[in-house]
Amino acid sequence: MGSEALDSVEVAVVGTGFGGIGMAVQLLEAGYRDIAVFEKADRVGGTWRENTYPGCACDVPSHLYSFSFAPNPNWSRMFSGWREIRDYIEDVARRYGVMDRIWFGHELTAARFDEATSLWHLNFSNGATVKARYVVAGLGPLHEPVVPDLPGLKDFKGPAFHSAQWRHDVDLAGKRIAVIGTGASAIQFVPQIAPAAGQVDLYQRTPPWVMPKPDRDVTAFEKWMFRTLPFTQRLWRYWQYWTYEMRGIGFVRRPSFMERARKMGVEHIAEHIGDPELRAKVTPDYLPGCKRILIANDYYPALARDNVSLVTEGIDRITAEGIIGKDGVLRPADVIIFGTGFEAAEPFHRGLFAGVGGRDIKDVWAEKGGAEAYKGVAVAGFPNLFLLAGPNTGLGNNSIVFILEAQIGYILDCLAEAKARRAGRIEVTDTRQTVYNAEIQEMMKRTIWMTGCNSWYLNANGKNTTIWPGFSLQYHLRMKEFEAADYRWS
Ligand code: NAP
Repeated sequence: MGSEALDSVEVAVVGTGFGGIGMAVQLLEAGYRDIAVFEKADRVGGTWRENTYPGCACDVPSHLYSFSFAPNPNWSRMFSGWREIRDYIEDVARRYGVMDRIWFGHELTAARFDEATSLWHLNFSNGATVKARYVVAGLGPLHEPVVPDLPGLKDFKGPAFHSAQWRHDVDLAGKRIAVIGTGASAIQFVPQIAPAAGQVDLYQRTPPWVMPKPDRDVTAFEKWMFRTLPFTQRLWRYWQYWTYEMRGIGFVRRPSFMERARKMGVEHIAEHIGDPELRAKVTPDYLPGCKRILIANDYYPALARDNVSLVTEGIDRITAEGIIGKDGVLRPADVIIFGTGFEAAEPFHRGLFAGVGGRDIKDVWAEKGGAEAYKGVAVAGFPNLFLLAGPNTGLGNNSIVFILEAQIGYILDCLAEAKARRAGRIEVTDTRQTVYNAEIQEMMKRTIWMTGCNSWYLNANGKNTTIWPGFSLQYHLRMKEFEAADYRWS
């Protein structure tokens, strides 16, 4: 948008990842014109703009990990890289007229609900302030990088950075690189950096399950077919959706079914790693799915390289020269890369959302034992605020874009109801939210995520605040039901 100041708006959408852009598109399609989209950076894309590390790609197939209303027949690979996904989001934003509504360089720093007017007062990092009737927060569940507070880190003399803040200016060729963490990001960038590195020491705390990745180029014929006969792409998407959805049985109903996946994982390790000691080190002792299942064909071969060492002794401290393990050995390093993930279970920083009575969302959630919302979207005490990819809406076995579209539809139903009732304030009742969350925590008990491993799905109290404990279709069907009685309207 231009430089003219914006004073107030009916709907403010914050963030331009899949959530924010999808919401803005559907608002425009539904006829809303008084909307504005705020983005901290200077281009759209969310996590696919932030994460640019070598090898960064989605582990959900592209024809599924895209909007149902904007199929892309031109995906180059079954699992596309970050740049192509970011370009897709940008293209959708442009085609649906969202680009003209985006205020770049606007990082939301504080949002306060004003009870007298039932408006949100938004403050941005650049000093701008805007009043909004409704706020839709598409801030992303995986966007606050976590760098562990390791003793001595500040003494390290070389570059040290997080995978989501990749230093493309640091030449890694010939360097001794310490990589901390073996999660979804590390298993993608380690195989990319290892060939040119002098030495890679990979610090593993818990081994992940890594399965073969059925990736390949999309053929010219397939692209032609998807372009010319769009129903073939829809069929392909349904096929992918149901294949992934069926796997949900092991995740949400019968964790014991994951024994088959364990066998597959062990075979994958055996195929690439000959050394029995290394095999033992990379074999997890928990069921696949308890932590996110990772997919890669090049990770185990990278571990088997002569210049890659898997360090499982733990980290004692960091010095100017490198890392001292709990075994007392100093392993020299020129660069440290943190593949240590994000603050997923405890979203938002203190001061970001202040609701009724000026109460901070962090305090409200702390009283409840962790983040919670009604249907992952609405929070009691925070009228006119909607969350995208909010608490307990993540998936272990399907596409988050499917979940986001269900949420977007639900929010539109909510806004339409408010219009019909001429209401200026919508607030979910605390009772409804509490009953809903008790129900999903009950469902959670029989899922794979509660079978005993430690994961980023759980908060500090061991409560799973991130994952939807059912099939994605169940969530979708629930979001189709809109019960006005769940809300207070005024
Ligand atoms: P992650 O999966 O949370 O992995 C973090 C890694 O860092 C884990 O191995 C963890 O060990 C380790 N770690 C954390 N703190 C540590 C400490 N103090 N000392 C030693 N090790 C420590 O993070 P991520 O790889 O950045 O991925 C985060 C999420 O982003 C993924 O799970 C996924 O949902 C998403 N992601 C998705 C894709 C995709 O293709 N869709 C790609 C990349 C990332 P423990 O296991 O012991 O905790």
